[in-house]
Amino acid sequence: MGFERFGTVSFTSKSKVDQFVDLLDQGRVSGTRCRKCGKSFFPPRADCFTCLSADMEWFEITGTGQLISYSTLIYAPTGFEQDLPYTIGLVQFSKDLKLFGRLSQEIKGEKMKVEMKLRATPIKLPNGRVSYEFREA
Ligand SMILES: [Zn+2]
Repeated sequence: MGFERFGTVSFTSKSKVDQFVDLLDQGRVSGTRCRKCGKSFFPPRADCFTCLSADMEWFEITGTGQLISYSTLIYAPTGFEQDLPYTIGLVQFSKDLKLFGRLSQEIKGEKMKVEMKLRATPIKLPNGRVSYEFREA
């Protein structure tokens, strides 16, 4: 299974990191880590841009991260109009691991603030598609 089932709009159907979608289906939000130098990547990469190794392993994004920045969209790219308004954010999970994604619609108004604790959570979208979002920890 490839990326044709990922997210609201898929921009590609096949990639070297297709397993990301299967892992989401199994309930795991995952990144890749370089076995040679230890650098972690999210979105997952098949090759390490630090040491150029292709020897990568999957790891699950567990625990809580801290919201660094966020923005609520009132205009959206093509294909995402029906989801408006929605909030995107950058969440720091460890010193070298930041994730970008959507915040749950359940986090509203004053609850939303920088430094709040969030979890990366797999979600099922209509038509059998899968994605992830950040939910309150
Ligand atoms: Zn590396």
